Amino acid sequence: MIGAGVAGLRAAIELAPAGQVLVLAKDKPNESSSQYAQGGIAAAVSDEDEVELHEQDTLVAGDGLCDRDAVRTLVQEGPRAIEELLEWGAAFDREGTKLMFGREGAHSRNRILHAQGDSTGREILRSLWQKATAYPSVRLLSFTAITELLESGGSIAGALAYDAWTGDSIEISAKAVLLATGGLGRVYSATTNPDVATGDGIGLAYRAGAEVSDVEFVQFHPTALQLPGAPCFLLSEALRGEGALLRNARGERFMHRYHPQEELAPRDVVSRSMVLEMQRTGEARILLDLTHLPAERVRRFPRIYETCLRYGIDLCTQPAPVHPAAHYAMGGVRTDLDGRTNVDRLFAAGEVACTGVHGANRLASNSLLEGVVFGARAGKAMLDSAAARRLMPEPVRPTLFPRMEETELRSLAWERAGIMRSADGLEDALRRLQDVAWVPHPANATRIECEVRNMHLVATLIARCALAREESRGAHTRTDFPERRLEFQKHSIAKKGNLEVVFV
Ligand SMILES: Cc1cc2nc3c(=O)[nH]c(=O)nc-3n(C[C@H](O)[C@H](O)[C@H](O)COP(=O)(O)OP(=O)(O)OC[C@H]3O[C@@H](n4cnc5c(N)ncnc54)[C@H](O)[C@@H]3O)c2cc1C
Repeated sequence: MIGAGVAGLRAAIELAPAGQVLVLAKDKPNESSSQYAQGGIAAAVSDEDEVELHEQDTLVAGDGLCDRDAVRTLVQEGPRAIEELLEWGAAFDREGTKLMFGREGAHSRNRILHAQGDSTGREILRSLWQKATAYPSVRLLSFTAITELLESGGSIAGALAYDAWTGDSIEISAKAVLLATGGLGRVYSATTNPDVATGDGIGLAYRAGAEVSDVEFVQFHPTALQLPGAPCFLLSEALRGEGALLRNARGERFMHRYHPQEELAPRDVVSRSMVLEMQRTGEARILLDLTHLPAERVRRFPRIYETCLRYGIDLCTQPAPVHPAAHYAMGGVRTDLDGRTNVDRLFAAGEVACTGVHGANRLASNSLLEGVVFGARAGKAMLDSAAARRLMPEPVRPTLFPRMEETELRSLAWERAGIMRSADGLEDALRRLQDVAWVPHPANATRIECEVRNMHLVATLIARCALAREESRGAHTRTDFPERRLEFQKHSIAKKGNLEVVFV
């Protein structure tokens, strides 16, 4: 398992009874997006809810591009996945003995389970961790970054790892490999994602010949904290659900100019509105204001409240400066509903995968659920490979690495392939991404060198697919093609050896 977030751990639990499972994390064992997920996990569990309603909400958010079978699988298997988490000790918040269900934007029912208010991911990870490590067959290696997949006659036979403790490269052979490497937010200069989210899984899979789909769809969360010296910390959508208001630099509310749902409009609409409002006022400052709410309602989000306080903002009395930031990748390594890619013995699950479940935009709180539902399915599918014979890995073929400063790369992606895109900007991005020095594979390439290589590739794929998709849909906005177009109600596919993006 490459990755120790919800998807990797859930898959490990499924596979553990069948043989040895190695779970790899490139940093601390719990450094992952899963650990930072605040808002919650969505599933049709409450008496007032129905699987069909969850399905409908997911399809609407996906803006005509969801894979219906994937959505049905997610919502139907969701309630059982929650039961399992409860059995394994996940302590979701309750009112008395009954589970508490919150509401987030674009959900038609209260169906979001949360833990300790805003620490849901941490709690789910804790319970999965406890369950997985109870199996003697599960072993974790932290601070071990996979730098390349190892192949054998077109099948995956293991992976090459950079061991941060020794600085050595180590070869790990495996009967099957699951990519559970999470997101790609670090490709952008502003992101809510942790440092590990450099799109490694996409880079590894693409180089091994796997299809990458819908990578142009990146969700930008509107409200990340923007303070000098502070991390790009997420101020959850649930705050706006609670009544928080957005104000421009003059202190005026502005969302009524852009959408009838105002602050509760879909995330991508709010992000775009903030950009337009900053252009309109000529001031790069937007505030999230909770000062009109009773203090006890603000303190219902203890992690958010304490973090802002640490950086000098008391949300009960002061508005917080915020800006949009790259948050979630709807696209990724193309898989079927069991996590299989088009490459033999290579699987993917969680944020790195693209089952088509999110279409062009993700419904809030569906991704933790995606991790547990599709992680379990991938783990089950990998059981077949567990019975197969081990393959002898071939030596890695040397490749060229792009030499580009990480900050330059991330700014370029933000400016040219970010919230608002156009053919001119995307073509410029592609030119500048290609126009770098290419150097031979450094012996014992370090984690950071490999990350920059992956970010460079992911930025290139995003720009290429965003350029090919001549329409605006979901989280993908083209200023030169502002409308949705029927001929693009298709998934984009990029594959090594084919510079042209294919739509299917
Ligand atoms: C701030 C924030 C808040 C969020 N809030 C919510 C929410 O409320 N509800 C919701 O549903 N979703 C939320 N999300 C999204 C959700 O958290 C993620 O989509 C989900 O947790 C991804 O899980 P994952 O298992 O796929 O990947 P992750 O949890 O990101 O785990 C990735 C793992 O892969 C490892 N890894 C990466 N590259 C390598 C490599 N080369 N070698 C070895 N290991 C590697 C990492 O070390 C890590 O262990 C949020 C995301 C963020 C960033």
